Amino acid sequence: MVKGKVIEGIPASPGIAIGVALKYEKLKPKILKKELKEEEVSGEIEKFLMAIERSKSELRKILTLAVEKLGSKGAEIFEAQILMLDDKTIIDKIIERIKGEKLNAEFIIQDEIEKYIKFMQGSGDDYLKERAHDLEDLKNRVIRNIQQQKWLSRFDTSRIVVAENLTPADTILFSRNQVLGYATDLGGMTSHTAILARALKIPAVVGLKEATKSIKTGDLVILDGYKGILIINPEQDVVEEYQNKIKRIAEFERKLEDFKFVPAVTIDGRKVTILANIEFPEEVNEALESGAEGVGLFRTEYIISNGTIPEEDEQFEEYFKVAEKVYPYKVVIRTFDVGGDKIFRDYHREDNPFLGWRGIRIGLDKPEILLSQLRAILRASVKKNVWVMFPMVSSIDEVREVKKYIDLAKAQLKEKNIPFDENIKVGVMIETPSSALMAKEIAREVDFFSIGTNDLIQYTLAVDRGNETVAKIFQEFHPAVLRLIQFVVESAQRAKIPVSVCGEMAADPYATVLLVGFGLDELSVTPKMIPEIKRIIKTIKFKDAKRISKRALVFKTQDEVKNFLMKELKGIIPEIEI
Ligand code: PEP
Ligand code: MG
Repeated sequence: MVKGKVIEGIPASPGIAIGVALKYEKLKPKILKKELKEEEVSGEIEKFLMAIERSKSELRKILTLAVEKLGSKGAEIFEAQILMLDDKTIIDKIIERIKGEKLNAEFIIQDEIEKYIKFMQGSGDDYLKERAHDLEDLKNRVIRNIQQQKWLSRFDTSRIVVAENLTPADTILFSRNQVLGYATDLGGMTSHTAILARALKIPAVVGLKEATKSIKTGDLVILDGYKGILIINPEQDVVEEYQNKIKRIAEFERKLEDFKFVPAVTIDGRKVTILANIEFPEEVNEALESGAEGVGLFRTEYIISNGTIPEEDEQFEEYFKVAEKVYPYKVVIRTFDVGGDKIFRDYHREDNPFLGWRGIRIGLDKPEILLSQLRAILRASVKKNVWVMFPMVSSIDEVREVKKYIDLAKAQLKEKNIPFDENIKVGVMIETPSSALMAKEIAREVDFFSIGTNDLIQYTLAVDRGNETVAKIFQEFHPAVLRLIQFVVESAQRAKIPVSVCGEMAADPYATVLLVGFGLDELSVTPKMIPEIKRIIKTIKFKDAKRISKRALVFKTQDEVKNFLMKELKGIIPEIEI
């Protein structure tokens, strides 16, 4: 159907771009060893110090740009790079060597920094290995500045940047230009390019393996960030097909504006609350501007930087900032879900981290961490719009134990006369098969449920959510998953507690009708999906949604469920087929 060479990768950031490729090849700086005359030494040191200053100033610009686009926490990586350039020990050592060995600065820098890089790479520690990349990047930046070479990061016309890989700085810098899209050979959904491209709202496909071998600068390419494909030198009819697609999407997005601030109520009157998932406080504005009726999942892991958990006061300020902004809506603050693929992996090695020390398990083993976070959350609840939620629960004992810590945290605050919401709502994520199967019993212990489909699918289907090799087995419409969700909703309803879905599934338009039909009270989604999800809900009848979800439970495979949904939804929501 599609003519031209098609390369398949991973859809990292949605959107479609048609344009001319710019192949970005980052050449390693050439470094020659040059002996200096005595009178050249001070000039060489001067050159080195100037290059450090120039590199810092470049990084400061990148940092400002990154803060503007991503907020301060999202831009931390650049702050760390600037700090490295301030490291006096290394700078002094390099100066001393230039003086002593009378060799050119580039050579000494290369030799000196390479020692650290080799040490970090050989450490066997993933965190240090990742930092070695940063150091390499930094070293090349300083050497380039000594050689007064400019790397291309500006271009005047619109281009699709194709590269083997992009550093965070490249990704941010290119975004100042008319970059239409990013395509990289390496990287997955959570690579820097993918995360930054999504935040920058630039379409991207990563993991294209050998795309750079098949593309020349100047080739016409189509980058489809929805499907995760790159088409090189497409035929005219394919270009036209994609141009029409872009128009339809733009038209569709314009129409969606109308749905931002209306409540999501089905034609026959069933209201579903649409909330936002956020990972940084800076995202609250976007969430509210997209029409969120609160925050259904505030992931708090961002607060932990370099493995250090901030003190209660600092945590309180972060949580309170969000609670205040969201007020009078609510914010559901989730306690640290470290472990698995998140943060602690760099500090705590395990053979099976997803089945290991993760989420509430860490909290219960380290009560001082849990308690200080609970006190911070409680203190942020003075306006009574904060709910607290626990991740990775797999047994009712954990729920009971965690509740004891809430009582303890409350007592500690009372003793100090610190105000908080005495009736704060306490809930759990249902994201393990065991908690889903025990939902009836757990529902009697808590005030609400939030179904974390990302993990529920991972653990139910025994498929690593981040592993590309088994991505096909990660099926959100797998009958086993649907049956568990249905059971959890039914259990919550019996116990008369609200239940939401906050996993990625809630943002899948195909799943919306299904979830509404199951009886979900709330869906918590990535902010940009809010208008669309509201639109779908307003287009359907609850009666039909119930019929569809009941019927969906009968099928035996994901394909059967999907085919059925596609047929049903075409009739109800025609535009879904963009
Ligand atoms: C989930 O598991 O669905 C979820 C929302 O939590 P996280 O993606 O943070 O694990
Ligand atoms: Mg989860």
